[in-house]
Amino acid sequence: MRKVPVPGKWISRQECLADASYTCNLFCRYCHNPPSGARTEIGTVIERVRRSGVKSVSLEGCGEPTTNPELPGLIGGLRRAGVRDIMLSTNAVALSDGKLCARIARGVDFFTVNFPSHVEAVYNGATRSVKYVQAVKGLRNLSRLGLEEKVRFFHIIFRDNYRLLPDFVAWVTASHPKCSLVNLTFVRNKGRVNDDKGILPRYSEAGPFIKIALARAKLAGLRAVVQNMPLCALKNFEGFSFEYQRWRRGDEPLEGGLDRPAPAAACRKCSLAPACCGARPDYVRVYGAGELKASKTGPATIKPEKF
Ligand code: SF4
Ligand code: SF4
Repeated sequence: MRKVPVPGKWISRQECLADASYTCNLFCRYCHNPPSGARTEIGTVIERVRRSGVKSVSLEGCGEPTTNPELPGLIGGLRRAGVRDIMLSTNAVALSDGKLCARIARGVDFFTVNFPSHVEAVYNGATRSVKYVQAVKGLRNLSRLGLEEKVRFFHIIFRDNYRLLPDFVAWVTASHPKCSLVNLTFVRNKGRVNDDKGILPRYSEAGPFIKIALARAKLAGLRAVVQNMPLCALKNFEGFSFEYQRWRRGDEPLEGGLDRPAPAAACRKCSLAPACCGARPDYVRVYGAGELKASKTGPATIKPEKF
């Protein structure tokens, strides 16, 4: 039996600290929030968190938190301010330094690793760098520290990697079998994407590969979700949708702060709408809403996958 969603009631409250970083050691083509260089003193961040009483934070930012030399001080200060759970969003490049990795890892409960490809050329093309080897070493260092179960892969689906999704899942299964989650997120047309069809694929192009990747993950016993894909583009795989899982647990499908779905005609007559992320307006601006198909299926009849 599904839980009855309670409108407006959020199950968990995790504060995203967008000022944990202000620069980056990569230059990803699909970056949604490129660093601006604007910097907040860590004392200000810690005091803000202390006053809010938040117990769970995610260290993110416009940039890469591990490039902030004050990151260890920020983590320590947040603990003293009463924070229980700290998640670090990182590209893992700086974690290739074993000592730094161990130092940072001591204060972090979960790592979300932005890793766009297991294929070196695709990774380096996506990140406009030659840092594939370092990122892989950073991931290995986390595994050596016994922290693989605390790693979640964050894999942005874009033009150059969508055909490789099933192989990516096979690579994760072989290289990091104990990781806690693989999150496949369809690229948002924000920041550096800038309406570029060479970065933004169509749902209908990526969908078949996403489904094979999800099936492969399930067969391998790997937990996987897909984010920012309309439910009608995931036919028969809707139970893997992150936003559907949120709805199922009683949250709004979309996290706070994200753009609302485009007001598409298909969505207005679709019974899945309450549990669906819809199409982003920045996607519809480029490709229109012609791929969206209204459904008569009740969302409660969808079987959620393991999450
Ligand atoms: S996506 Fe992340 S790792 Fe890539 S440039 Fe943007 S902030 Fe840096
Ligand atoms: S038609 Fe709209 S609401 Fe229905 S599944 Fe597709 S995107 Fe979601």
